[in-house]
Parts: sequence; structure tokens; C-alpha cells
Amino acid sequence: MYKNILCAVDVSSEGEIVLLKAAALAELYGSQLSIAHIIEYTFLPKDYQKKLKEDVLPVIQEMTKKHNIKKKNRYVKFGKPYSEICALENKHNIDLIVIGSHEKRGVKAFLGSTAHAVLQQATCDVLLVKLR
Ligand code: AMP
Repeated sequence: MYKNILCAVDVSSEGEIVLLKAAALAELYGSQLSIAHIIEYTFLPKDYQKKLKEDVLPVIQEMTKKHNIKKKNRYVKFGKPYSEICALENKHNIDLIVIGSHEKRGVKAFLGSTAHAVLQQATCDVLLVKLR
């Protein structure tokens, strides 16, 4: 049903919860699974950005290895998470994005979240994995 699944992960323990669901779906449908982590663009010096990437890479590499995701399907980019995730969707013919979603109530529900923005911008199906 889905050929190319993209899982958007942050580097918290919740990333693994979202990835587990994406990996199970990829197994079920025989889909190619990709993983994306976006480092929020900062106006700090290039060296600092390089350091941020160096810190995050081992975590993403570990997740990739654990779920047998091909290296070429691992994306670590700089930018706004929702817009980079949607750019990857278009570039790589993604037909399902799997992303975590926190329950937000009151004023927080009106503030932008990555999951909400992706849901609005993506042209493919989006699976929201509920996180507590
Ligand atoms: P948030 O909107 O920050 O509550 O995050 C909800 C979900 O969006 C997370 O569970 C991830 O699936 C995804 N996400 C958040 N931040 C990032 C990021 N920097 N890179 C990739 N995905 C992210």
C-alpha cells in the first residue's frame, strides 16, 4: 500500500516510539523506510552548527542501525522541521509520513507544532503517533 515511508524523529526517547510504529508498518507493507531528523536552523556560527550535527548523528545512526534502515535513507538536515520534512516528501516520493503528536490543550493547542504543520503542508498521508 505504501512504497516509501518517512519517519520524522526527534532525539528524545519518544523518537524510538514513533520509529517502532513506522518500522512495523514498513514491514507490513514491504515499504522502503527512511528516517529524518532536522536540526533547527540557528544563526549561530557554522562551527556551532557542525557541533550540533556531530552530537545528533550518533543517536540517529544508532536508530538507523537498529531498524536496518539503509544509510542512503537517513536524512539529517538543517532548517525548520516541518518544511524540511515536507521537502523530503516531495523529493523522495514519500507516500506516508509517520510523526509523533503530543496532546496539547488550551493555549498550547493554538501554537504551531511540528506534527500540525506537517499535517497541513504534506500532500501524502500522515500518521500521527500519539505521545503522552
Ligand atoms: P513536537 O511538535 O515538537 O511536539 O514534535 C512532534 C513530533 O514531530 C515528534 O515526535 C517527531 O516525530 C517530530 N519532530 C519534532 N521535532 C523534530 C525534528 N527536529 N526533526 C524531525 N522530526 C521532528
